[in-house]
Amino acid sequence: MAPPPPSQIPNAESNRIYVSNKEARVVRNCRVKCNPVLSEQKISIRGVVDELMKLGSPEKRLISLGVGDAASSQCFQKGKESFSKAVADAVSSSAFDCYAPSYGFPFARRAVAEYLSRDVKHGIREGDVYLTVGGTQALQVCLTVLASPGANLLLPRPGFAPYEAACEIYGIEARFYLLQPHHGWELDLDQVRSLADADTVGIVVINPSNPCGAVFSPYHLQQIAETARDLNIPLIADELYGHMVYGGSKFVPLASFAHLTPVITVGALSKRWMVPGWRLGWIAICDPNESFKQVKVAIEMLMNVTSGPASVIQAAVPSILSNSHEEFHKNVLIVLESTAETLYTRIAHIEALQCHSRPQGSMFMMVEINPALLLGIENDMDFARELMKEESVLVLPGFVIGLKNWLRIFFGVHSNVLSEACDRIESFCKRRHPTN
Ligand SMILES: *Cc1c(COP(=O)(O)O)cnc(C)c1O
Repeated sequence: MAPPPPSQIPNAESNRIYVSNKEARVVRNCRVKCNPVLSEQKISIRGVVDELMKLGSPEKRLISLGVGDAASSQCFQKGKESFSKAVADAVSSSAFDCYAPSYGFPFARRAVAEYLSRDVKHGIREGDVYLTVGGTQALQVCLTVLASPGANLLLPRPGFAPYEAACEIYGIEARFYLLQPHHGWELDLDQVRSLADADTVGIVVINPSNPCGAVFSPYHLQQIAETARDLNIPLIADELYGHMVYGGSKFVPLASFAHLTPVITVGALSKRWMVPGWRLGWIAICDPNESFKQVKVAIEMLMNVTSGPASVIQAAVPSILSNSHEEFHKNVLIVLESTAETLYTRIAHIEALQCHSRPQGSMFMMVEINPALLLGIENDMDFARELMKEESVLVLPGFVIGLKNWLRIFFGVHSNVLSEACDRIESFCKRRHPTN
């Protein structure tokens, strides 16, 4: 097209892109309408942790047992350099400066499929795997896809807060089944049945458990799968802590029971490989009866219009998931088994605190507090706040994850750090004892 004659070129005044202060005020007042679900402050792990972090005593070094990030702990570094090397090689090759395909590079999807198929009799194929931005995007994709009008979803209580948040945002009704502290945190399957109805779109099972540290037996997993089959709903298996088990427990992937009902497995490099900042996760569909094709189509539709994990990280996936990191994984489990034991034994000696079962997996333990034995403390938030003020130890108050008057304590830290934290928790509880 020919350029417009000079007379038609708008002058600077009528075409200016700046605004005067007076106009700017008008602009600022423009009426914005936000999603009402996001208009009020929601309880979140990060929100509560940020609030507590401000309270630390300046005299004592902060010990954070509030969030589950073991990446910076020196005791888990042994053998980890090879993960970084795989990424560094991908970066320096420049071969992965490009976009990745919507569902991930085929070679990386295949590597995840092969990794997951090692333990499952129903094979998982490359085409059943979708790469996501960490486990968080994986769960968001699953819930977005299942969010049909009127849908409800069964979630564990205590559980992992982002599921509840995602339900709210996507308009899914969250219904909570209770994990039983006195029965190894197992599900009460009668309660699960009573919660479900024709609009229930699935049940989320977190095994090994964040926040409970429980690892379900194959028998219990089969019972869960049979219940889901009877209710005609799929299982969403959050296996972020898959294989992070110790003390004689065995990890059995829920997909082993996919002949009973379809299983959507959610995983990531974040926890087992301790690189949460790399933001690489996955969804794997295990559906030997092929009753779930529609879900795959919906996932693909969604992933075609969203963005996935960085290409250079995807490039490193085959190497990271390979069998050649036994030393790293072995060391992690040795450390965790010992810190789990230390935490459990030390807590057992504190009158005001109780832990009903020794952790067998993941990096968390739930501890019940007895406010009657703690002066000036009425609930879990008081406990976390006062402990932070006096001892600079951060723990997560249970109300954030659905269990009032409990605490979630992270033990993926060096054993010396954990012992120091236990000393401080113990002296805090002693000082607060009513007979003091
Ligand atoms: C950490 C975690 C996630 C989220 O994984 P990211 O990769 O950190 O996004 C999901 N589920 C559970 C149970 C987790 O602990």
